[in-house]
Amino acid sequence: MFVTTESFRNLSKNTIPFLDVGYTYRTVQDEIDAAVSRVLQSGQYIGGDEVSLFESRFAQFVEASHCVGVANGLDAITLSLRALGVGPGDEVIVPSHTFIATWLAVSETGATPVPVDTAPNGFNLDIDRIPSAITPRTRGIIVVHLYGVPVDLDKVADVARNHGLWVIEDAAQAHGARYKGRRIGAHSALTTWSFYPGKNLGAFGDAGAITTDDAQLADAVRLMGNYGAAQKYEHKVLGVNSRLDPLQAAVLDVKLRYLESWNQRRSDIARTYCEQLAGIDDLELPLFSGNNSWHLFVIRSNKRDALRMKLEQSGIGYGVHYPKPPHRQVPYRDGHSKTDMSVTDRLSTEVLSLPIGPHLDDESVEYVIHHLRQTLK
Ligand SMILES: *Cc1c(COP(=O)(O)O)cnc(C)c1O
Repeated sequence: MFVTTESFRNLSKNTIPFLDVGYTYRTVQDEIDAAVSRVLQSGQYIGGDEVSLFESRFAQFVEASHCVGVANGLDAITLSLRALGVGPGDEVIVPSHTFIATWLAVSETGATPVPVDTAPNGFNLDIDRIPSAITPRTRGIIVVHLYGVPVDLDKVADVARNHGLWVIEDAAQAHGARYKGRRIGAHSALTTWSFYPGKNLGAFGDAGAITTDDAQLADAVRLMGNYGAAQKYEHKVLGVNSRLDPLQAAVLDVKLRYLESWNQRRSDIARTYCEQLAGIDDLELPLFSGNNSWHLFVIRSNKRDALRMKLEQSGIGYGVHYPKPPHRQVPYRDGHSKTDMSVTDRLSTEVLSLPIGPHLDDESVEYVIHHLRQTLK
């Protein structure tokens, strides 16, 4: 997701970048240049057709009735929480193993994020442990389809229904992923998206969106992100300024046409990794599934740090998602020192993200496989 400094350290002939956000631009440069120039010449630099066109196409892609473009993925979560009326005194369940944005959005509203540890055999939150985290103050649950692995949403919905809670899906890593045959996008009350450049669908800067099947919630988040006004100078709520930029919308609209083929390439690489790295001691592979968006290909090893060094020596970029979980970060560490998050703590010492994405050719994938096998044999 983030370009690690490690990715640039060995710029030798054999460098395999972990991420190459410029690749997708180079492959569709003519179309993107035309779209950018069209926006610049239009004189419409906030809102307008470019934004609404992308919103409707993205909604269609994720099989949702409504899409509201916003400024970034963090705002998408915060605005969703605000639209659901979350504020000081409330508690919201969050996964302990996630990018910190999921937690920060809750804190931004004045509410408290209440973490649930990771399931023993996976990366997503342990749904069985949600009920024990629920208190009379709990308002809802945010789930994260981490790395692109879809959460078992039916199971989460059951827990939510039994306790009168809503569910928000943080889908920042799940563009194109599916749950039970249907795209991630409107299985729950609200689904939030980031178009940060390194995501499967990335802008050339910050951008985000919210999708939903609920027209009222769609209106509420739109109001919230537009100064609380549906009409100019008529302010209904204490809103903020968080809008999707037309330039980014135009770029995203071009890239959206290629998302399926780029995701297919990710999936093909993941399948190759799963097949060719199988059966190695000290290496745990993710389960292959065509429902995953394969934002990241994350392996686990108790020899993670030795592996990192070898990859660096071989000029192979990698990532660690994430080296320090939110409950260990300065703003949260005091409040959560007593909660058991041992699965997450262990994960943070074992996870390693291999290069994956449309920028990798077969040869690069073979190179990565070859070096990993050499190292661990
Ligand atoms: C990237 C990401 C976000 C935040 O997105 P921004 O657009 O950078 O604000 C939120 N949640 C998860 C899981 C992410 O990966």
